Amino acid sequence: MSEPLLIIIAAPSGGGKSTVLKRVFAEVPDLLFSISHTTRAPRQGEQNGREYFFVDPAAMRELIDKDAFLEWAEVHGRVYGTSRAELDRARSAGKDLVLDIDVQGAAQIVKAHPQALSIFLKPPSEEVLRSRLMARGSESEESLAIRLRNARGEIERAPEFQHVVVNDRLDDAVNEVKRLIVEARLTRREGELLSRG
Ligand code: ADP
Ligand code: 5GP
Repeated sequence: MSEPLLIIIAAPSGGGKSTVLKRVFAEVPDLLFSISHTTRAPRQGEQNGREYFFVDPAAMRELIDKDAFLEWAEVHGRVYGTSRAELDRARSAGKDLVLDIDVQGAAQIVKAHPQALSIFLKPPSEEVLRSRLMARGSESEESLAIRLRNARGEIERAPEFQHVVVNDRLDDAVNEVKRLIVEARLTRREGELLSRG
C-alpha cells in the first residue's frame, strides 16, 4: 500500500481552511483529517478529539519532550502540534492525511517530508479577510486583533508553498484544491510504477 500523502493546507486565520476542507472531504475519497493537539480553549461547538485534542500547557510540554509530534509551533500565543500518531492512523486506514496547520508547521513538515503537497489558501484581500473573520464571530476583540496582525506575516510566506490558491469564490477554491490532490496522487502513482520498473 502507498505511504500516505501529506496534504498541507495553510492560511491565515479566517482564510477559509475549515470551509474549503469541509467541501473537499465531502467530495474527495480516502482523506483523513489530522487532528492536532492545542493548548487553546475549545470554541463553541468544538469537541475534544474531533476538531482538536485540547490539552493544558503541561501536557503539551510533556508530549513535546517525548517527541510525540511531527511538527509543533506557537501560533497566536498558543501551542499547536501534529502528533506522529495521526500519520500512523492514516497509514492504518490507507488514507491520505490532511493537515490544517500554520506556516511554521508547514515548513517543518516539508523539510522532513519533501514529497508532501503544500497549499496556501490566500484571502482575496486584507479587507475581505477582516470582514470574514468578524462575520464568523468566533473571536474576542483581542484574539481578532492578534489574528489580523499575524495574517500579514503569514501571507508573506505564501511563496514557500508549492501552490497558492486564492479563496475568492468558494467553488473555484474547492475545485482547485481538489484538482491539486488528484494531480499529486497521480504523480505518486507514477513514481511507484517507475520505481518498480
Ligand atoms: P479558517 O478555518 O481558515 O480560520 P473559515 O473556514 O472559518 O477559516 O472561514 C472564515 C469565515 O469566512 C467563515 O465564516 C466562512 O464561512 C467564511 N468564508 C470562507 N470562505 C469563503 C468564501 N470563499 N466566500 C465567502 N465566505 C467565505
Ligand atoms: P485555530 O485556533 O483558528 O483553530 O487555528 C489557528 C492556527 O493554528 C491556524 O493557522 C491553524 O492552521 C494552525 N494550526 C492548527 N493545528 C496546527 C498544528 O498541529 N500545527 C501547527 N503548526 N499549526 C496548527
